Amino acid sequence: MIANITSSFSNSLADYLPTGIQLAYLVAASLFIIGLKQMGSPATARRGNLLGAIAMLLAVVGTLLDKQVLSYGLIMVAIAIGSAIGSLIAYKVAMTDMPQMVGLLNGLGGLASSLVAVGAYWQVTSLGNDLPIVDNLSIIISVLIGNITFTGSAIAFAKLQGLIGGAPIRFAYQQVLNIFLLVGFGIGTVLLVVNPQDLPVFITINALSLLIGVLFVIPIGGGDMPVVISLLNSLSGVAASAAGFVVMNNVLIISGALVGASGLILTQIMCKAMNRTLPNVLFSGFGTAIAADGSAEDNSNKTVKTIDLEECAMMLGYARSVVIVPGYGMAVAQAQHAVRELSDMLERKGVEVKFAIHPVAGRMPGHMNVLLAEANVPYSQLYDMDDINTQFENTDVVLIIGANDVVNPAARTNQASPIYGMPILEVDKAKNAIVIKRGMNAGFSGVENELFYHQKTMMLFGGAKDMVAKLSNELKQI
Ligand code: NDP
Repeated sequence: MIANITSSFSNSLADYLPTGIQLAYLVAASLFIIGLKQMGSPATARRGNLLGAIAMLLAVVGTLLDKQVLSYGLIMVAIAIGSAIGSLIAYKVAMTDMPQMVGLLNGLGGLASSLVAVGAYWQVTSLGNDLPIVDNLSIIISVLIGNITFTGSAIAFAKLQGLIGGAPIRFAYQQVLNIFLLVGFGIGTVLLVVNPQDLPVFITINALSLLIGVLFVIPIGGGDMPVVISLLNSLSGVAASAAGFVVMNNVLIISGALVGASGLILTQIMCKAMNRTLPNVLFSGFGTAIAADGSAEDNSNKTVKTIDLEECAMMLGYARSVVIVPGYGMAVAQAQHAVRELSDMLERKGVEVKFAIHPVAGRMPGHMNVLLAEANVPYSQLYDMDDINTQFENTDVVLIIGANDVVNPAARTNQASPIYGMPILEVDKAKNAIVIKRGMNAGFSGVENELFYHQKTMMLFGGAKDMVAKLSNELKQI
């Protein structure tokens, strides 16, 4: 297909009219953009997802109509195997395992882009043909980014899946080695531009980029993997776009660019919601140990107030307004359906129930929205942080279920805290706070939460799913 770039200058005017394939690509690209826009709101996200899927189908069908397809049989076998594996994994994956599933798919996307570039390189150079510099550079960029995405995502997957430890892996002269590898890649690029037929150099830059991907991700703590996965998602888009230039496929260029841009925006949103910069996420090893800088308050002399199920049910049942704050613990416990039942029961008793959604509650972007949507909690009950924060003062009871960092007032008050400046749900302004969690363990950031020691806070210790289900039972009695 590379030959198309140079031969297109000799085409007649008729050749420039859009073909069926180009039209299919145009519609697909437009649908991708509309779909992405719709994914910006929970109310339209499912439709947006469907539009994206239809666009992908159009792009695939359009590509299959290409005259240069060599074997439909092989393509069908590959589609059948890929679809079977993909459906099985998607069907079986638990909601809390979604980040590593996304990581795995990003990695395969990067590998696919890299293989396309390797195939194009081989197609041209094995025949001894010349490789124009633009095509050569497209191939090199595709290989670099695709391979980094592949091995980087594989490490991120292994960390999140517990196949390797989540702690940052660091060793002496790591940065020197990184620079050495990058310089090596740069030299390889120059050599390949001078002599595109140099196969050993091509193999070497492939190996170097695979290694760079591993070294890029191993020093990052397991807890920061969702941000890294979002960044690698963006890179997989850039790799696909570069592969699109290699084979001159418009829809691949456009869709790759869309993935690249949206992944980067998502990465920025996540960093902002945690009040951290991207370099801090990539290089600090945050979230892997309790803050050792003495910033955490010494709460050893303070006591917490506990509440039992009956009292808790009474408080909720007789409240006028209740705000439920779901967090990572609710996700791990898979308590969303039980929470929905509790919310329904409270509403039947005339209590006004709202859900407060922090942008990084849980371990992946939109984690709470997805879980609550799965349990059919109406979108009208979900409130973003900025909207709900002004309402806490008039709230009778906030019920915090497995959330910790996202409600920690230290983010507002303690300048020495590692989470200082992170926007939080200001639940301490409500009249009463009830926290459901199993014990006094810290959250992702590793810092203690002074909210648990407040006068108006009561702790209901236990697993989220179990406690919420028991609360619903108690509510039936009053
Ligand atoms: P946290 O991780 O701060 O706290 C979760 C709490 O849930 C823990 O303190 C734990 O306490 C409790 N818990 C765990 N299992 C259960 C269970 N089965 N039942 C009841 N409670 C349980 O969660 P948040 O949602 O408040 O905050 C998310 C954190 O993750 C933030 O720091 C954010 O920056 C970070 N993060 C989020 C990302 C995202 O995209 N959403 C990405 C990367 C990081 P105990 O063990 O005592 O029960």
